[in-house]
Amino acid sequence: MNVYDSERIAETLAPLGFSLCEDAAEADLVVLNTCHIREKAAEKVYSDLGRLRQLKARRADRGKRTVIAVAGCVAQAEGREIIERSPVVDLVIGPQSYHRLPELLPRLERGGRAILDTEFPEDDKFRHLPGSRPRPRSPSAFLTIQEGCDKFCTFCVVPYTRGAEYSRPVADIEAEARNLVDLGAKELTLLGQNVNTYHGEGPDGGHWSLARLLRHLAEIGGLERLRYTTSHPRDVDDELIAVHAQVAEVMPYLHLPFQAGSDPVLAAMNRQHTGDDYIRIAERIRAARPDIALSTDIIVGFPGETDEDFAATLDLVGRVGFAQAYSFKYSPRPGTPAAALDNQVPDHVKSERLQTLQALLDRQKAAFNAGFLGRKLQVLFEGEGRKPGQLVGRSPYLQPVHAGGGPELLGQIADVEITGVGPNSLEGAIKKLAQSAQTVVTL
Ligand code: SF4
Repeated sequence: MNVYDSERIAETLAPLGFSLCEDAAEADLVVLNTCHIREKAAEKVYSDLGRLRQLKARRADRGKRTVIAVAGCVAQAEGREIIERSPVVDLVIGPQSYHRLPELLPRLERGGRAILDTEFPEDDKFRHLPGSRPRPRSPSAFLTIQEGCDKFCTFCVVPYTRGAEYSRPVADIEAEARNLVDLGAKELTLLGQNVNTYHGEGPDGGHWSLARLLRHLAEIGGLERLRYTTSHPRDVDDELIAVHAQVAEVMPYLHLPFQAGSDPVLAAMNRQHTGDDYIRIAERIRAARPDIALSTDIIVGFPGETDEDFAATLDLVGRVGFAQAYSFKYSPRPGTPAAALDNQVPDHVKSERLQTLQALLDRQKAAFNAGFLGRKLQVLFEGEGRKPGQLVGRSPYLQPVHAGGGPELLGQIADVEITGVGPNSLEGAIKKLAQSAQTVVTL
């Protein structure tokens, strides 16, 4: 979502004459768009600000002014503390108010004093962003449809930094989707912290579910692929599962975090589901779409996690089987309930558990990828590959696929025969160029 937000920040500043530059030393305005999910997120921001302080001083020696803004969830969480600890900062702006940058920058010019804007405004920030998007840098574009979260998992900062759940109206999403497709996007990834709670206002005045929205967007001519992330197991319903079985444009890949396999740990996390619930959901999804690739997030060493609890996580991974996973050692986020628990797990125990878990996940991922050797996959080519004359794209299962081909194939979907399987990507040879998800012509 920060990639999406950063693009929108740049778009909102374009009418003021700003354009993107590659080198911060050349920038009149530097926006650090921060993520609070990362471990030691605030410390990393302060260390980046130390480097920017020197850059600002060097530019001042050349007679150039540099405005430094901190945006995103660390800005929201730290607030005024950032200005107090780092006087080099001119602007602190939360993730729900970056649309105000065009009015805040002139205020800064006039007033000179640092500005803090971390409110959760009543009005919809999306309505204040430019209606028309620039050409996406990739044929695969992001589109935020939902923000915030009401779940309050005890380890997570999102409900505090992104605020309460909010769903954009269907008409606004559709307009942005059509705009992106007109500009060359073939694939859209719908974003939300808790995307499958989506319940935006539909054109009929009712609340539309994510499933209904996906069916609606799939009708857009030229839009070949749809994805969505991140989902919560509690909000996976039959309607959404049916979409995976029935709508060809919805890719057979689902990122569905389970975080821990032990029910006592899940309860302490306030996840509102059990390990068995998750397994049943995975079975229902696989019954509807047998080839679906499941991906997940897992935390090891949550406060109070015993060896037995951890064994339940390994067991769940073994029973479900994942094509991809993101696993982390628990690390406290200031201000969250879990950070105050006194039964923290020692770091060396967390490290050992993470190693064991990741070895299992790596084996599962390797087995998943190996199953494609010699088979054909449709690949949407997004950019240049590792080697000259090579392109890289994504399979329906989100695997990076490298294949020989010229730039004329960028943005195209082609049939690729898989000839090699690496730990993180596949290699193949282009066989056919697809005109659409359903139609294929021979090259
Ligand atoms: S559902 Fe996701 S975003 Fe919401 S509190 Fe839990 S982990 Fe955070």
